[in-house]
Amino acid sequence: MEEIKNQIETLRQELHDHNHRYYILDEPMISDYEFDQLLQTLQDLEKKYPDLSDPNSPTKRVGGGITKSFETVPHKHPMYSLSNTYSKVELLQWEERLKKALGEEAQIEFTCELKFDGASISLTYENGVLVKAITRGDGVQGDNITTNVKTIKTIPLKLKADFPKFFEIRGEILLPWEGFHKMNEQRAALGEPLYRNPRNTASGSLKLQDSRIVADRPLTCFLYSLAGDSLPVSSQFEALTKAREWGFMVPESAEKVNSIDAVFDFITSWEQKRKSLPFEIDGIVIKVNSLFQQDELGFTSKAPRWAIAYKYKAEQASTRLNDVQYQVGRTGVVTPVAQLEPVLISGTTVKRASLHNADQIQKLDLRIGDLIFVEKGGEIIPKITGIDPLNRGSLEDRVVFIEHCPECYSPLQREEGEAQHYCVNDLNCPPQQIGKIQHFIGRKAMDIEGLGGETVSLLYKEGLLNSIDDLYRLRKEQILPIERMAEKSVTNLLEGIEKSKEKPFAKVLFGLGIRFIGETVAKKLTEEFGSIDQLAEASIVALTNTDEIGDRIAQSVVAYFVQPENRKLVQALKDFGLQLESIAPVRDINEAFLGKKFVVSGVFEAFSREDLKAEIEFLGGKIVSSVSSKIDYLVAGEGMGPSKKEKAIKFGITILDENSYQAFKQTL
Ligand code: AMP
Ligand code: ZN
Repeated sequence: MEEIKNQIETLRQELHDHNHRYYILDEPMISDYEFDQLLQTLQDLEKKYPDLSDPNSPTKRVGGGITKSFETVPHKHPMYSLSNTYSKVELLQWEERLKKALGEEAQIEFTCELKFDGASISLTYENGVLVKAITRGDGVQGDNITTNVKTIKTIPLKLKADFPKFFEIRGEILLPWEGFHKMNEQRAALGEPLYRNPRNTASGSLKLQDSRIVADRPLTCFLYSLAGDSLPVSSQFEALTKAREWGFMVPESAEKVNSIDAVFDFITSWEQKRKSLPFEIDGIVIKVNSLFQQDELGFTSKAPRWAIAYKYKAEQASTRLNDVQYQVGRTGVVTPVAQLEPVLISGTTVKRASLHNADQIQKLDLRIGDLIFVEKGGEIIPKITGIDPLNRGSLEDRVVFIEHCPECYSPLQREEGEAQHYCVNDLNCPPQQIGKIQHFIGRKAMDIEGLGGETVSLLYKEGLLNSIDDLYRLRKEQILPIERMAEKSVTNLLEGIEKSKEKPFAKVLFGLGIRFIGETVAKKLTEEFGSIDQLAEASIVALTNTDEIGDRIAQSVVAYFVQPENRKLVQALKDFGLQLESIAPVRDINEAFLGKKFVVSGVFEAFSREDLKAEIEFLGGKIVSSVSSKIDYLVAGEGMGPSKKEKAIKFGITILDENSYQAFKQTL
C-alpha cells in the first residue's frame, strides 16, 4: 500500500510540474500524448484506491463537481476597487497627493501593470495548496467558486519554491480572444445568439453549476497582488516576481519605474500595443511600489490611495443612421442591423452596427437620420452607444420594428420573456432554408467535400435545392448548365454528396439543425436512443432522463418530430441510405446480460456511470433511462433518488448495488 501511495504522489508531482512547464513557462518537456498517458495512469490508480484521493490532484482539472448554489464567504482581506481616470492631468494630481502624504522628499517608485478586463478572483493557499477561490462579490464577501476555478489550467493547484504558509493572491480570470471566437463559432453553428464580449462570458462561465463545462472553456488567469500578514516581500514588484517563482502566471508586461513621466511612457506604448494582445485590457494600473509607502497611504472607503487605473477610451465616432435592415438567420431569428454612413474607427471602416433587438431600438428611440455614436471596444461588432440629442432625425422617421419577415412576409413572433423576434415559417423562408442546408453540409456536420455555402445559395436560386434531402436528388445534367459549374467540380460535388451517406448518425442528427442540438448533445442522443425512430418517439420524460439533456432540449426535440414535414425529411434521408442508426459496437456477449434492460443511477466508487453503461452494453445488455415495469435491473449507486428505488421495489425489479453488480458479473 505504501508503495502505491508513493507512486500516486510521484505521479501527481510530475503532472503538476509538467502542467507548470506547459501552461506557465510554455516549455513543455514531454509530448501531449505522454502527458495524457501519465494522467490516465493516475486516474486509474485513483479510481482503484479511492482512499488515496486528493482534492488537488491534477485529475481534478477535468471538472466533474456540480455546485447547485455557491456559498457566500467573507474575504479575509477586503477586495477594494480602484479609483480610475481617463486623464493624464489627474495622474499628475494623484502624484501630488502622494507627495503630500509621504513628504516632498520621498522617493516614489511605481509599478505599471496592464488592467485586465475579466472577473477578479481571490485565491487562498495553505501550505502551498489551493484551498479556496472567491469572487470579488461586494468586496467584503463573495461566492466560493473553488470547484470551477480548479479547472483553469493556468492556476496552480500546488505551489513550488519558498511560498508562505498561508496567503491570498488576487488576479483576473479572463477569456482570451481566440477562445472567445471559438465559443462564438460554436454558438453560431447552433443558431444561438452570440456572446457579446469576453469579460461577461468569463464571469458567466465561473458561475456555471457544472464544472465539467467550465473545464471546456478556454479560461486563463493572471495574478497581480498578494494579500496576507507578514508576507516575505517589501514591494509590489517583488511580490510579482515571487509569485511567478511559486508557479503563478504573472504577466511579464509589468514594469517598475521611478517617475510619473516614465508612467506616461508606459501608457503611451501600450495604447497601440494593446490592440495586438491576445486578450482584452481596458487600461493601465499604476501602483506605488513600496509596501511600506502603501501602508502609510492606506485606503479610502472604496479604494487604495496608493493605486490608480488609467483607462483607455474605447474608440468612438459619430455618424448618420441611414437605415435599419433586418437579417434572418438559420433558426429564424430576426436581427436588426443599423446601416451607417461609413466612418473610420480604429483603422477600420464601419458601415453597420448591431442593434440586438426591438427593445434596444425602443430604448434609444431611434430615428432614421439620427446622428449616432458608435463604439468599437471589447465587442466584436460595433455598437451604438447613444444619440446626439441636437441632431435628431424627424419624428415620422422613427424606427418601428417590422411585423413581417423581410424575406418571406410571414408574420413574426416574439415569445413571452424572449427578446428576439422569430420568423416561424421555417420551411419556406429562403434564408432559413439556405441556412439549414449550409449547416447540414458544414464542416462539423456532414462535411461534404466539393460543396460550399456559396454553391448551396446558387443551387437554391436555381430551384434545385429547397431542403436538405434535395441534395441527394441532384443530378449532373441539372447542374452542368449552370454558369460557373464545370464538369470536374460537378463530379466532385456529387461524389462528396454520395460519400456523405456513410457519415455516422450523430453527424446527421447534428446536421438536421434542430434547435439546441449541438455536437455533444447529438452524440449523447444517438448513444442513448440508438436510432432516429426511437428518438422521434421519445417522450419529454425519457429525454430528460438522459444525462445532460434538460427541458429546453427535450422540448425542442419533441417539437421537431411533431412536424410532418420534418418526419418526411427524415424518411427521405432514410430512403437515400443515410446513417440514421448507431452502429452497434463490438460486444462480448454475456448470457446474463443479453437482451436485459438496465437502469443505471447514482454514482459509483470504482467506475464512472458512463463506463458502467458502456460495460453493460458491451456485455449485451440494454441501457434504459427510466424505471418502469419493463426493465430487469436497477444498478444503484450512491445518491440515487428515492423515487427511483420506490418504483423499482413496486415493480419487483432486481436492485444491484455496486458490490452485488460486480458479483452478478462474476457468477457467469
Ligand atoms: P474597476 O472594476 O474599474 O473598479 O477596476 C478595479 C478592478 O480592476 C479590480 O477589482 C481588478 O479586478 C481589476 N484589475 C485588472 N488588472 C489589475 C491589476 N493589474 N491590478 C489591480 N487590479 C486589476
Ligand atoms: Zn421568413
